[in-house]
Amino acid sequence: MAHNDRRVGDSIRVFCSHCEVNTAGRIEGILHDDETDDEGRPVLGILLQLVRCSHCQSGLLVQSWDHPDGWQDSNTLWPGPQSKLSPLVPHRLQLAHQEAELCFSAKAYMATVVMVRRTLEGVCADQGATAKVLMRALEELRDSGKIEGRLFDWAQDLRVLGNQGAHFSDAEVSREDAEDALALAEALLDYIYVLAVRYEEFSKRRQRTRTAEPPRLLDSLRGVTEDGQQQP
Ligand SMILES: [Zn+2]
Repeated sequence: MAHNDRRVGDSIRVFCSHCEVNTAGRIEGILHDDETDDEGRPVLGILLQLVRCSHCQSGLLVQSWDHPDGWQDSNTLWPGPQSKLSPLVPHRLQLAHQEAELCFSAKAYMATVVMVRRTLEGVCADQGATAKVLMRALEELRDSGKIEGRLFDWAQDLRVLGNQGAHFSDAEVSREDAEDALALAEALLDYIYVLAVRYEEFSKRRQRTRTAEPPRLLDSLRGVTEDGQQQP
């Protein structure tokens, strides 16, 4: 199907997810993986390429589609984008989020929002919610003060969008919606597993400082400088 076929040794433009730059890569291996109709006739030419990044020399799996003007849209399938999540986020939730990112990088936007919804289910279970239905589980987290106000609204919107992706209907999931869903899921994980924990530690530390050093404030109110001298 392809008009100007690619060969081992050719150079192509790729996004390297190891060094996170758009760069050139050398094709080291090629596999034609065309999509076919029920009678086995090719309907879409797909090319899988094993590529070495010219920047960091690491290996990548890159997918391209056939187009009258040549192979289009070189999309890095593996490795997926580097996770931006903190190591404080539980491993199972990191895996679910990475899978959502992988769906997004393969342009599977419905699958992205379904995986984001699954991540939310994981958060609820991890945080001790007992309700089986996600809407109720999120309400439990809100009622116990684990997610509040706007964050609860975000989570509800992600749940609804995830339902849209999970059920067969005419409603499309756009690239923008899938991208926003990923960003909101990331913010939610960050809030619950990083910021909330950090705030709690901060709060405890402040409490300890306050009980340990009460005279400082009184001294400064009385006009005593740090070295104990009376201010003029
Ligand atoms: Zn690289």
